[in-house]
Amino acid sequence: MINIVLFGKPGAGKGTQAEFLKEKYKLTHISTGDVFRYNLKNDTPLGKEARVYMDAGDLVPDELTTKMLIDEVNKHPETNGILFDGYPRTISQAEALDAFLPTIGSKVAATIALEADDEILVTRLLERGKTSGRIDDQDEDKIRNRYQEYNEKTAPLMGYYKEQGKFYAVNGIGSIQEITERLTAVIDNL
Ligand code: AMP
Repeated sequence: MINIVLFGKPGAGKGTQAEFLKEKYKLTHISTGDVFRYNLKNDTPLGKEARVYMDAGDLVPDELTTKMLIDEVNKHPETNGILFDGYPRTISQAEALDAFLPTIGSKVAATIALEADDEILVTRLLERGKTSGRIDDQDEDKIRNRYQEYNEKTAPLMGYYKEQGKFYAVNGIGSIQEITERLTAVIDNL
């Protein structure tokens, strides 16, 4: 299994790039944001619990998120590898992933960050909010709150993965194809 963590601020293009990478490397794409939104839409017990955090642009508590993530991974026992999009987002989640993957004989191969300037991303998200229907993309205060969550809780993961020698960063500004090429250059060299 080759497991890749796609890392980056909201709006950096993780979801867009994941669509290309999953085809190219035959990976299972797990977006925790997408799984939460599916549960919200279907008003499941998980959706009911997650809604208040998501609508505010806050992170959903670790325990709930990690349980959901492990359930998702376990749905794909035969996979070539997993492309994690939006998980882990806290040190505690990264530790949980590092504890869980060995139980299925696996590990994180690399974490690749898509880097982009905050102001470009805020504009991108507000634009996306006009068509995505996502409440958390429509209000600049909520978007800024998501960046604050990122800076406080998610940014420390860079150091966590650097210490493990698994952190790579690519410039997230450019055409979709250019960015895909930067990502594949990293993955092909692993
Ligand atoms: P995303 O689509 O990745 O931007 O995620 C949308 C929202 O889902 C986030 O703002 C959080 O409320 C929630 N979420 C997604 N992934 C996680 C995670 N790994 N930890 C906590 N909350 C998450």
